[in-house]
Amino acid sequence: MSATPHREPTVSPLDVEAVRRDFPALHQEVHGKPLVYLDNAASSLTPTPVLEAIEGFYTRDRANVHRGIHELSQRATAAYDATREVVARFLHAARPEEVVHVRGTTEAINLVAATWGPAHLGPGDEVVITQSEHHANIVPWQLLCERTGATLRAIPIDATGQWILEEARRLIGPRTKLVACGHVSNALGTINPVAEVIALAKAQGALVLLDGAQGAPHLPIDVQALGADFYCFSAHKLCGPTGAGVLWGRYELLEAMPPYQAGGDMIEQVTLERSTFQAPPLRFEAGTPNIAGVIGLGAALTYLEELGRERIAAYEEELHQYAAARLAEVDRLIPVGTAPAKVPVFSFTVDGAHPTDVGYLLDSQGIAVRTGHHCAQPVMAAFGLSATARASLAFYNTRDEVDRLVEALHKVIGWL
Ligand code: PMP
Repeated sequence: MSATPHREPTVSPLDVEAVRRDFPALHQEVHGKPLVYLDNAASSLTPTPVLEAIEGFYTRDRANVHRGIHELSQRATAAYDATREVVARFLHAARPEEVVHVRGTTEAINLVAATWGPAHLGPGDEVVITQSEHHANIVPWQLLCERTGATLRAIPIDATGQWILEEARRLIGPRTKLVACGHVSNALGTINPVAEVIALAKAQGALVLLDGAQGAPHLPIDVQALGADFYCFSAHKLCGPTGAGVLWGRYELLEAMPPYQAGGDMIEQVTLERSTFQAPPLRFEAGTPNIAGVIGLGAALTYLEELGRERIAAYEEELHQYAAARLAEVDRLIPVGTAPAKVPVFSFTVDGAHPTDVGYLLDSQGIAVRTGHHCAQPVMAAFGLSATARASLAFYNTRDEVDRLVEALHKVIGWL
């Protein structure tokens, strides 16, 4: 019998043209030009299976969850609850009960600040963030520190947009109770060294919250291997609907946290004098939730799972390299954020032009990029800027679209 030949595991490449057929919004003209959508870090587009799942809820299973014994409510509840399992698989969470449905990353962070925060922080305690955070991972901690008398510290970034780890080692100490930091920077695309920072925090007995709004769309996530305590992301950056997102937390932590909002569905027993509360995750899901949004999130993660996260990552990496090389050819384009480890997010300025003007001129060519401070003013301040233009790619973008961006930039620069 001959030995079975050794084969390297291979992942068949992503069929991007087939993928693009799943995204109806891609197939339109803007200002008479075919749309090139490069604002995926702000919000991604929605594929047909997600649209169908949402429509299916509204047209067939339209009822409230967790309350009705009738068929429609049972179906809506089953679909809503099924998403928890899909999310748990997506994050490699230990159990679905660790997944709390919220409105998005912003609400997830605010939930932790409002519930875990006051019970654990007081004068002399410290919360550590970084200079590359989105405002959603800065302002809740500022307000919490003001309320509790704790102190907020920030790990600075260097000229390439990377956290300065010596500063992290200096700032994370025995007073640190929580480190809240982004997995990937939204303004620059830097993939942050979260493992190092988690190790520093754990050595001091501090908890770690990871803002995964930009990490979850691009990187494989294993919350158990990461060793984080909380992980947050938004559905709308992952091909899902707006108004839905996830707070994942280690179950023992969630269990020890008091309720967030109060009302229906989060209680066990209510008398006129006092109430007792459900176990997590329902303790944190007061009121009628965004049922269609949660069902849409489940469909989005299932869609990504079926395309293959590895296949998507390989395609994105190849497109990333191509775009980086093409953008480097553009004279007068100044990249902002040049860390070696990045997702395909390109922040830049154009010498001699305001980023807003660059954005308008690109839009006139059918090309959607984001301009402004990207809700990360401290990042802009680190670079001495008030704004950048940002092209952020997704797995349904193509080399042709990158070429269109580069051509349009040449044209814009010619007009200056
Ligand atoms: N954190 C990061 C890193 C983000 O990119 C965003 C969205 N731009 C948020 C938090 C806030 O997400 P949302 O607006 O969906 O709550």
